[in-house]
Formats: sequence, C-alpha cells, structure tokens
Amino acid sequence: ILFDRLSTTFSDLFRQMGGKAKISEKNVQDAVEQIKLALLEADVNLRVVRRFVNATLKEATGEHVLRSVSPGQQFVKIVHDRIVHLLGDEAAGLNLKGPDTTSVILLLGLQGSGKTTTASKLAARLKKEGRRPLLVAADLVRPAAVDQLVTLGSQIAVDVHSEKGAKDPVKVAKNGLKRGKKELYDTVIIDTSGRMHVDADLMKEIKSVFQAVKPDETLMVADAMTGQHAVDIAKSFDETVELSGVILSKFDSDTRGGAALSLKSITGKAIKFIGVGEKSDDLEPFVPERIASRILGMGDVVSLVEKAQETIDEQEAVDLQKKMASKNFTLEDYLDQFSRMRKMGGLEKIMDMMPGMQGQMEMDENQQKMIAHQEAIILSMTPKERQNHFMIGPGRRKRIAKGSGTSVHQVNKLIKDFDKMRQMMKKAAKNKKYQQQMMKQL
Ligand code: GDP
Repeated sequence: ILFDRLSTTFSDLFRQMGGKAKISEKNVQDAVEQIKLALLEADVNLRVVRRFVNATLKEATGEHVLRSVSPGQQFVKIVHDRIVHLLGDEAAGLNLKGPDTTSVILLLGLQGSGKTTTASKLAARLKKEGRRPLLVAADLVRPAAVDQLVTLGSQIAVDVHSEKGAKDPVKVAKNGLKRGKKELYDTVIIDTSGRMHVDADLMKEIKSVFQAVKPDETLMVADAMTGQHAVDIAKSFDETVELSGVILSKFDSDTRGGAALSLKSITGKAIKFIGVGEKSDDLEPFVPERIASRILGMGDVVSLVEKAQETIDEQEAVDLQKKMASKNFTLEDYLDQFSRMRKMGGLEKIMDMMPGMQGQMEMDENQQKMIAHQEAIILSMTPKERQNHFMIGPGRRKRIAKGSGTSVHQVNKLIKDFDKMRQMMKKAAKNKKYQQQMMKQL
C-alpha cells in the first residue's frame, strides 16, 4: 500500500505526541529519530533526511514550542509543514501559451518509465480542459512505441503524428511541430525515446530534439518506484536540457515515497503530475498538501494540525491585544499587524475579541479596500514617521499620499483614526473591567 510504513510511523508518533500536554526535549529527539529512520527506509535522499532532521529538531525544541499551550500539536504541525515543504509547497501547473499559439510539451525519461502512456494521459487531460492537442511519436528506439501511441491516441480521439520507417527523431519532432502549427493544434506533445540507462547516446538525441522544438514544458517522466534513483536521473537530464518539471508515474504501485520527498529539494524541479494507473484518465495534479496527508496518515493529522493552527492564532491574538493596549503602539506596530490580521481573519475578527467592540467591525468590500489603502499609506512613510505619527505635517502628508497612490484626505483620515484608536486602547487598558475580561481570555 502507498507509503505504508511511512504513514504508520507518522500516525503512531502523532497520536503519541499530539495528545501530550507537555513534552520534553528528549521526547522530541526520540520522535525525530524515529522519523529519520522511517524516511531513510522510505528511500529518501540522505541529504534531505539530514536537513529535515536538523531543522525539525531546532524548531521543535525551541522554547516557544515546548512551553506553548499545546506543544504536542505544535510538533505535529512543524513536521507536517516541513513535509509539505519537501513536496514543493504549492501545486505547480503547466506553463502553456494561450490557445491561439502552439505550445510544445517535450516528454523524456528512461525506457519503461511510462512516457508513452503519460503522453496520452496528458493529451486526454488537456483535451478535457478544452485544448486541442497533437501527439508526436518520436520514440524511434523502443520497437512498439510508435504503434502504442497511435493506438492510445485513437482511444482518446486525439490525433497522432507518426512517420512510418522514420530513423531521425529530430526530423519527426520538427515535422510534428510544423504540422501542429499548420493545422492549428494548440499543444504538441512529443514522446521521445528512452534507454535502459542514462547514456551519452540518449542525451545527445534529447538535446537535439530539445533544440529543434524549443519546448514550453520539458517534463521528465520518472517511475515513482525507483525511489531516489529518480533524483539522479532528473539531475542528468536537467544538465542536458533544462527540465521544467517532473511527472511521477506508477504512483499507484507500492511506492515508499523516496522520489516524491527528495526530488524538489535536491533538483529544484517541481513534480507537476502523478500517474496513478494505466488508463488514460489516471493522471492527477501533484498537490503537496494532499500527498502530505497521505504520507502522514491523514485524518488525525489534519485535525491536529488545524487545532495547532488555532492555538497559534490565539496566542498571536493575545499578544496583539497586549501590544494594542500598551502605551507605545506605533504605526509601525500597526503595519506589522496587517499580515497577521489577514491570517487571523481580518480586523473584524480581532475587534470582536476586544471587549466592547464586538460586532462593530463588519467589513464589506469597500472597507477591505480601505485597509489595503491604509497599508499602502503606512508603507509610504519613513520609519521615523511610523514611530512617531505626530511629526507628520502637511508637507509629509502630501508626499505620503503621492507615494501610496492615495489622497491627502485619506492620509489625514488614517492618522486621525489611528490616533483615536490608540487613545481608546489606552483608556481601555486602564479600565479594570477590560483587564478582567482580558485575563479571562488568557
Ligand atoms: P515508456 O517506455 O517510457 O514509453 O513506458 P510506457 O508508457 O510503455 O509504460 C511502461 C509500463 O508502465 C506500461 O505497462 C504502462 O502501462 C505502465 N504504466 C505507465 N504509467 C503507469 C502508472 O501511472 N501506473 C501504473 N500502474 N502503470 C503505469
């Protein structure tokens, strides 16, 4: 089963750690040691494992984690986020031109990696998305490759350019592209030949084809079961032609995860799709978050991570309240809060947490725009001005308005509102009832 060992280790660990109200440095070290062994066993590249272990140890043994409200959950979140990072963070799509120009996708990889199958899967997918693909059979080494592509193409009703008895893959690729342009196909997908191993002959051929067709996407197809060997192959190809990404085939088979977890951080190349079967619709976008959930054993993990996220936000909100109530709350601090506020669901949500302000900040689109303007205005101030808003006279206001693309009126309003807010906070902070409420929230 997919990632079997790896996810068993993770879910066991997370159940142990996630439930703990207190964890020690030793707990973290033991847990990280178990993760290390599991990753090595999953055939993850040694350098990747080392970096992962060191970074996780450092972060998870930090005071702010061990002393936090829910250290076990924080630990889970740290590991989860790092796994997502190893997988590439965001899903990477294809970079193709618009439908009125012909884009070129070049597929390469070793023999048996799944290139021909993947070419047809990709064509089926693009066709579904409304594009008009043409497949080009330029694998002239593997005896059955051309016929295979022709058959697959007819199954999904996509045209295939093939040349009987052709010997020169560069010519076939060029002719295919020429035909694609002439007959207004918007995407030309070129299947190339592989070899049993990376060799000079293969690289020379790939390079010539690459130079002849100048692809928009140069994707290496790698068999997920080959583990970190896939990383070495990707490196070789990338030295010859610049890869724009990788497709991991046979992700439905017994893959341990080594290839998926090592590729991005070693080669810098994103995994764009995974092959999950032999049929033409067995191709899925590679979504790091989703794969991480599978690796980490799903269910429990997701809820634990969500919980950890909540506690972190609560902590931030409390810090923010404190800061707001303190005497020296400056525009600089205010600016700092913008990104946090966004993360916590906006000023609205924070205001709701402030005593006496519940429900007073319903934000509509205009107000959100206003917030964006406010941010721009403060960003146009000098650090000194942000530290001391009293020094911002008429001349400076004019300059700030210009710099932020707003009006002097808007700058005036921001400073006035900020000052009012500051005074209100100060007053509130002196108020006994407010303090009691704040303590209750703490
Ligand atoms: P090529 O030599 O690189 O063109 O490889 P092929 O496209 O002929 O694929 C080799 C074998 O792997 C074929 O039997 C395919 O059906 C199989 N294959 C390719 N992709 C997948 C996949 O994602 N999952 C599974 N289970 N098999 C695959």
